[in-house]
Amino acid sequence: MYKKQTNARNGYLCFMEATLQQLASWLEKPSKMVIIPHKNPDGDAMGSCLAWQKVLVQLGHSAEVIAPNDYPTFLHWLPGHNDVINYEAAQKKGKTLIAEADIVFTLDFNTLRRIDPMGERVAESKAKIVMIDHHQEPDDYADIMFSEPTIGSTCELVYNIIVGLDLKNCINADVASCLYTGILTDTGSFRFPSVTSNTHKAVAELIERGANHSYIHEQIKDTARPDRLKLLGIALQNMVFLDDINTAYISLSQEELNRCNFQKGDAEGFVNYGLSVSGIQMAVLMIEYQHEGVVKLSFRSKGDMAVNTFAKTYFEGGGHINASGGISKRSLVETERYFIDSIKTFLA
Ligand code: 5GP
Ligand code: MN
Repeated sequence: MYKKQTNARNGYLCFMEATLQQLASWLEKPSKMVIIPHKNPDGDAMGSCLAWQKVLVQLGHSAEVIAPNDYPTFLHWLPGHNDVINYEAAQKKGKTLIAEADIVFTLDFNTLRRIDPMGERVAESKAKIVMIDHHQEPDDYADIMFSEPTIGSTCELVYNIIVGLDLKNCINADVASCLYTGILTDTGSFRFPSVTSNTHKAVAELIERGANHSYIHEQIKDTARPDRLKLLGIALQNMVFLDDINTAYISLSQEELNRCNFQKGDAEGFVNYGLSVSGIQMAVLMIEYQHEGVVKLSFRSKGDMAVNTFAKTYFEGGGHINASGGISKRSLVETERYFIDSIKTFLA
């Protein structure tokens, strides 16, 4: 069984030394672990959960990844995907695993509201809770918190934790591929300001350990159906420019989604197109999901325009300074109007 050596150290990990020590002591005896990503998991959420699961299993623990719901097919190639439990489809099994867990790891989110309705099961479970996340303003629900908003992805943070626990040898090709995926997707392919030389050092190590960067890019970026491109065409046609406030927004109605046989993940990345226009500082995507009775909003920005504060104030959401999301229960047309009013108030 795993036993941490106390004096091996890796420069920039010192900031979480005490937390690492505590986690290391919890990993000493074989335990039942559950690992949970946020609802509508993305590449970073699934990549970090699956990588961490594979490390825990190598240490002799039993570890299950339970996703609150399904995720896009462009992530279904991830090693371990077939064993992921979808809570929406297997609630009974999910509930039992959470109730019987010794430790629950919550990855890539920091408020139990992000895993509704699993959050209540986690809160009432006797399990110890470990948060591993990079969003700002974490809630106080975890027994151990690895909360590092300066790091660009939870996958990079998990990499740091693995290295900090002297477990680099557990990074096999599958672990490396999962971690590479989350770093790639959460950094906009290594271009956001959150990317550092440490990110690139981590990625170099992951490639050395078997992550096939070219294959992973293809799986994520080049596996679309023609319908997705048709939807992109509609989205770009629908783009509205609010030149006076350097903002561009796109709205997509349920009818437009239906016309393109919409599947989860089809609109991934659409929000970024607004930011490719010179002078645009904020880009927004609004998608109407009629069966859920909500409009889902994605916000992206450049510079110090804090879209997480905006999402939290007006759209029950949150996220990062330059990438956030939220929801609206208004109709799509009313959501557009409400958005224009609220962004003008916010920027005034
Ligand atoms: P996306 O626009 O890709 O759905 O999300 C962008 C970022 O905002 C992600 O970091 C995600 O965690 C966060 N985010 C998206 N939707 C919500 C939401 O409804 N609530 C909160 N708190 N964060 C969200
Ligand atoms: Mn993330």
